[in-house]
Amino acid sequence: MAVKIDGKAIAAAVRAEVRAEAEAMTKQGNTPGLAVILVGDDPASRVYVNNKKKACAEAGIYSEEFTLPAETTQEELLALVEELNNRKDIHGILCQLPLPKHLDDKAVIAAISPEKDVDAFHAANVGHILIGDYTFLPCTPAGVMELLHRTDISVEGKQCVVIGRSNIVGKPMAMLLLHENATVTICHSRTQNLKEVCRGADVLVAAVGRAGFVTPDMVKPGAVVIDVGINRNAEGKLCGDVDPAVEEVAGYITPVPGGVGPMTIAMLLKNTITAAKALTK
Ligand code: NDP
Repeated sequence: MAVKIDGKAIAAAVRAEVRAEAEAMTKQGNTPGLAVILVGDDPASRVYVNNKKKACAEAGIYSEEFTLPAETTQEELLALVEELNNRKDIHGILCQLPLPKHLDDKAVIAAISPEKDVDAFHAANVGHILIGDYTFLPCTPAGVMELLHRTDISVEGKQCVVIGRSNIVGKPMAMLLLHENATVTICHSRTQNLKEVCRGADVLVAAVGRAGFVTPDMVKPGAVVIDVGINRNAEGKLCGDVDPAVEEVAGYITPVPGGVGPMTIAMLLKNTITAAKALTK
């Protein structure tokens, strides 16, 4: 039976460290500040933004929400980003995605100052990650690495397979594993013999977005299985990409909920501290 990696507890430890740093900075008159932009009324985005604001408050980070109507123009949104780029009390800027269809998310990300890009989505930051010389890491892959580190799991020399190649999860995840000397394979919807490839993995990361996608026959006995997926099953219950029966085969597994999810917000808070430190040096 796999050992469950407790993302809630590890995230709580990261958040406590962030809080201590935020308090120390506040004492010096440099309270870290995060601006969160929400355009439109997507209910899932609303929940994410509320969670991020609450987490900031608990960590002693100042947060300011900018809620814009769905019909906001590209120019208005870019003007707000520019204003926030210039604000001294704001060190991190986050624009909650997805944006309404008429807005160009790439242009908005490109407009955020790379020094305040706490999501690490800006092309400059993506490039820094590729060459291994970075300030910020994207929150979800960084959260996965933190889970591995704090569970004393080394990926050095190991076969790591990442299922999914999105810009926000799969690709940076593969890069971070590579930086720690893993041998990395990235799989996607055109991968042939997916089952065999996955069965060769010492560490298997699933970032597909399909409930129960990873089944026990895809997992090497004793492997570390990291489930990034957040899905709803047929009964509407929150679940990951990994079939619960994988617990019988894996050595370690991250549960959903309570695995990678809590780490994503914890790493956002950590990135905000990093940004604030760099900008107030
Ligand atoms: P995307 O939809 O952008 O990417 C999904 C990836 O899965 C694609 O690369 C796609 O391949 C691949 N894929 C789809 N079907 C198959 C298949 N049959 N076989 C192999 N690969 C397949 O999703 P994201 O990366 O944004 O998110 C992935 C999951 O992680 C989602 O459930 C999302 O909700 C969750 N998530 C969780 C976070 C957290 O905090 N825990 C944060 C961010 C995301 P192709 O490129 O060929 O289409």
